Amino acid sequence: MLFFSAKCPACNQKGQKVENDTMIHHVKDISKMGDGGYSYCSNPQCNVVYFRDKEVFTTDMINKEIGFKNSSSDQGAVCFCYNYTKSVLYDDALVDKINIRIDNYGSRCDLRSPSGKCCIKEIKKMQKEKKEEELHDIFKEK
Ligand SMILES: [Zn+2]
Repeated sequence: MLFFSAKCPACNQKGQKVENDTMIHHVKDISKMGDGGYSYCSNPQCNVVYFRDKEVFTTDMINKEIGFKNSSSDQGAVCFCYNYTKSVLYDDALVDKINIRIDNYGSRCDLRSPSGKCCIKEIKKMQKEKKEEELHDIFKEK
């Protein structure tokens, strides 16, 4: 078993360890999967979702559009437990809405989120980046 964080063969960014149980819910053709040792690539610019050494599963091999990848459309999911998409990122109350649902119904990020981790941190990051971009655009217009 290897415990160091492996680097994505496409973008060279460090990946996050991912369980096979998580991957099984996201990979279209699970017969292509080996038995463990995969990592998740969270780099928005990279189309690799899962990798193990040189072996990769790219966004087109995943059954749902991942909103965290830049190449995804507005319908790319950012909360996989409750099906919120990139198109609602403008909503400042989004994180609160998700938290209320989690409080009431729980969450299964371990299976539903492609990274196996809760999406809220990523959503906050994307919302912050979106705001900064908008500010940047305002200043450019002057
Ligand atoms: Zn990558």
